[in-house]
Formats: sequence, structure tokens, C-alpha cells
Amino acid sequence: MVIGIDMDDTICSTNELIIKEADRYDREVLGGSGVKDETAYEFTEMMGWQKDMKGKFFKDRLEYIMDHAEIKEGAQEIINKLHDEGNKIIIISFRKDKYLKDPYKLTVDYLDRHGIKYDKVFVNTGTKEDECKENNVTLFIDDKESHCADVANEGIDVLLFTNAYNHDEKKFNRVDNWEQIYKYIEEKYYG
Ligand SMILES: [Mg+2]
Repeated sequence: MVIGIDMDDTICSTNELIIKEADRYDREVLGGSGVKDETAYEFTEMMGWQKDMKGKFFKDRLEYIMDHAEIKEGAQEIINKLHDEGNKIIIISFRKDKYLKDPYKLTVDYLDRHGIKYDKVFVNTGTKEDECKENNVTLFIDDKESHCADVANEGIDVLLFTNAYNHDEKKFNRVDNWEQIYKYIEEKYYG
């Protein structure tokens, strides 16, 4: 089968590092006192920043953050196992040119450095259903509800990877870790 996989907060823990680095940026560059409201849903609210500050911070730091984000536990082992079992692995990322010099290179360098096997990498995507359709994706995994919804609309099976902001989402099958992803595939598709 063909498995479509998101990158940020599905393979690597990007959001965690964004908050850590924003806290540092606020203290060191902006002379602030770091994160203002840890529970805020909106990033700018969390930091107590003006709207345009977020863009400036991303331009300055997002490349570093995505390069250094920690890989999620089990991601490399499970993806490679799935690949070795004959499945096609398609990485489908929303990463944009807007904040990154070369989102494609940044992504494949990360995957290669962490020893993750893949067949294709897409970056700069729109809503992701085009890449899923063109590549005959059977199962798509992402932490963002809107991407899951767009892909599910095409009749493709989706898994929502739990992140800090999607706990209330009930529409999709949810997974909290890579072990659960493997178990889902094993039970539904290998049986
Ligand atoms: Mg994501």
C-alpha cells in the first residue's frame, strides 16, 4: 500500500521547539520575558507579540527549528519497517518557501540524517489531497485536522496524529504514537 505522511508534528516534534525557540528569541532578541501564556491557542497570543512579529521570527528561526526538531519516538523504526514490508512511503509537507531557503532540501536532509526510508517527498503543498490522489495513497497520517478532512473527502483513509491543539477533534481515527500507527495498519490492512 501507499502511505502518505506529514512531516512536522507527525515525524518530528516541531511545535515543541518552536515554543522553546520563541521563548529564547523573546528574551534574547526582543528583550522580553519569554512565553506569556502557555495555554494560549494562538501563537502570537502565547508570546504576547504583535502579528508581524511571528513572521519575522519564522523568517529568522524556522529553518533552524525544522532542522533541529527532535524525531518522534519510533518514527524511524516504524517507517522503515513499513517500507521494508513493501509499502511506499510518501512524505507530504506543507513547508513553504516563504520562510525557508529550500524546504525540499531541508526535508530530505533531515530524513536522510535520521535514516528514514522514503519513496517521494513533496513540500510547498496546498491542501495535500492532490499529492494523495496522484500517488494513490491508501492511508494518510497528519496532525492537522484540516489536512485530514481534505484528504478524507477524497475517500482516502486518514489517521490524526495527536498534537497539543487537536485533542477535541473527534471526526478522525486518532493515534498518539508510531506504535499505534503500526498496530492500526497491521490490523486493518495486513489481516
Ligand atoms: Mg504537521
